[in-house]
Amino acid sequence: MSASAEEGGLPTNTVNLVLLRASQINGCGVCVDMHARDARKEGESDERLPRLLADRHRADRASQVGAASMPAWGSALRSEQASGSSWPSAARTSRWRSAVGVRCLGAAYNWEKGRLAPARERDDNVVDREGVIAAMVKVVGRDGVISARDELRTYECDGLASCRAVPGLVVLPRTASQVQRIVRVCYERGLPFVARGAGTGLSGGALPVASGLLIVLTRMNRIVEIDIANERVVVEPGVANLQISEAVAPYGYYYAPDPSSQAVCSIGGNVAENSGGAHCLKYGFTANHITGLEVVLADGSLVHLGGKAVDAPGYDLMGAFVGSEGTLGIATRITLRIVRKPETVRTILIAFPTASAAGAAVSAIIAARITPAALEIMDALAIEAAEAAVHAGYPPGAGALLIVELDGIAAEVDHQLDQVLALCRVQGATELRVAQDDEERARIWKGRKAAFAAVGRISPDYYVQDGVIPRSALAEVLQRIGTLAAERGLRVANVFHAGDGNLHPLVLYNGEAQAAAAEELASEILLTCLAMGGSITGEHGVGVDKKHHMPDMFGASDLDTMQRLRCAFDPAGLCNPGKVFPTPRLCGERPGPRTANPFEAAGLAEVF
Ligand SMILES: Cc1cc2nc3c(=O)[nH]c(=O)nc-3n(C[C@H](O)[C@H](O)[C@H](O)COP(=O)(O)OP(=O)(O)OC[C@H]3O[C@@H](n4cnc5c(N)ncnc54)[C@H](O)[C@@H]3O)c2cc1C
Repeated sequence: MSASAEEGGLPTNTVNLVLLRASQINGCGVCVDMHARDARKEGESDERLPRLLADRHRADRASQVGAASMPAWGSALRSEQASGSSWPSAARTSRWRSAVGVRCLGAAYNWEKGRLAPARERDDNVVDREGVIAAMVKVVGRDGVISARDELRTYECDGLASCRAVPGLVVLPRTASQVQRIVRVCYERGLPFVARGAGTGLSGGALPVASGLLIVLTRMNRIVEIDIANERVVVEPGVANLQISEAVAPYGYYYAPDPSSQAVCSIGGNVAENSGGAHCLKYGFTANHITGLEVVLADGSLVHLGGKAVDAPGYDLMGAFVGSEGTLGIATRITLRIVRKPETVRTILIAFPTASAAGAAVSAIIAARITPAALEIMDALAIEAAEAAVHAGYPPGAGALLIVELDGIAAEVDHQLDQVLALCRVQGATELRVAQDDEERARIWKGRKAAFAAVGRISPDYYVQDGVIPRSALAEVLQRIGTLAAERGLRVANVFHAGDGNLHPLVLYNGEAQAAAAEELASEILLTCLAMGGSITGEHGVGVDKKHHMPDMFGASDLDTMQRLRCAFDPAGLCNPGKVFPTPRLCGERPGPRTANPFEAAGLAEVF
């Protein structure tokens, strides 16, 4: 590595280490942290930091990594080694990524908020903003374009409020053809764009690109067709999840995937995130209920994937699209499967002294070959929060609650109900309540579905985590989470889809002083899930929040293959850039289409 060697820098093997670290972290987070610490040492105030970091980041990029960055990385590494740490700790916390890193990635396009800049060009090549606004007004009318700075702020984040970026422009189309025309303008000018549904995503998937367009789909909210004979419904992407069940209820049908946010989240967002919910244990996730998609690709072309039939010849491109987090195009029409309401539904609320005992009951129920429609656990803190918020009437003093819902043919459900009650008694249940009517059933679910938001009642701040473990590891992982939390003096409320092993630890903290510890704990929890053979996300997606964890779960060639797929749909990298993948891995990588790392290409370094 000549640049750093000439300046008394690191030997090649250390450079490899640096590259490894950089790819594990969120590329820019490394230099962001480094520059932040340098700036602070130079006595710069926190207010000036973002601007300063953007300037230095630009300087790094202009130098194409080598000369400017490597000695600096070397000095950061050396000073950390001297202080006994393996890597600048702040670079690993997502608080830093949230506060600065993501903005810094935005700066890779253009730091000047409200200005539009092409993804493939340099920062100073700013697009004619007024020209783009005029083009958009032509497509969607004046009332479909938001360009005033204070109004744009409404869209600066989704449910992951710690990550914010004011979009360059917001556009609200009403038809697929308008989406096509908007995207075509972006394509011609090289502008990045992000699709947004209701903005309830919890991983920052709909976080805008500061120099690009945010395409908000809430005005595309028509239920186009209800085809009861074929058990299909065709909808526009802005339709709320619950609206579909309400629309088909008179026919005795419903739409099965039921995220807790179902009253507001859009079906387009569900498709992009492959959303789940309490009833996905028996009925499957969004992917199992989508049969057809109409999609606007990144060049503005309109394609149809699947249809009303259950399978189509050729590659399963629809399968690739569902769960792609808005990176492969914009869904403008969705064909989905509805299911017949079951003959009987029985909901049981069971109190246990501990979450581990409730977990053991879950294993016992599954081992008895019963597949309930839902199997949900809430621990004591989550119960406290839900009670404070919605007064669900949960048993006081319970260490954990298990909600079991059985559905199907009445005779079968009655038999399973007796089995479940007996199994739970054996596992030490302290109270068993079978809902006597729809009202009681709704009350039980109200507490569970309100649990995320309810945690705000017992803690000023909280961080929603989402990870998956094998069901059999439930008790062990809960214990580990408890230990990790105690080590940091933090509390964790646990709400989870126990049947799927999908955990939602809610890390409670109080203000800036505890924020870094909370994010570190959340990160440790994910690593624990991985160590157990699980996953970094069950249903909330990767977005910006977890992209730095992708290399913890996938090897470099796996990630590369995913990138190639993405590039096949969006070669210019305009569609929701900066999400899901830890790119740019290094500051020398330009955002946009996948390219080989410059060091790698020059044969100077190896990316592990
Ligand atoms: C209180 C609360 C409870 C939640 N409970 C659950 C739960 O139980 N299960 C669960 O899975 N999630 C849950 N979520 C997360 C969230 O509601 C889901 O991820 C939901 O699917 C997001 O939908 P949205 O319309 O808000 O999408 P947004 O947040 O607007 O966008 C999410 C992603 O989808 C992309 N996108 C949006 N529309 C389109 C489109 N038409 N075409 C292509 N890409 C698009 C965006 O670019 C972004 O990447 C919860 C969130 C909250 C706040």
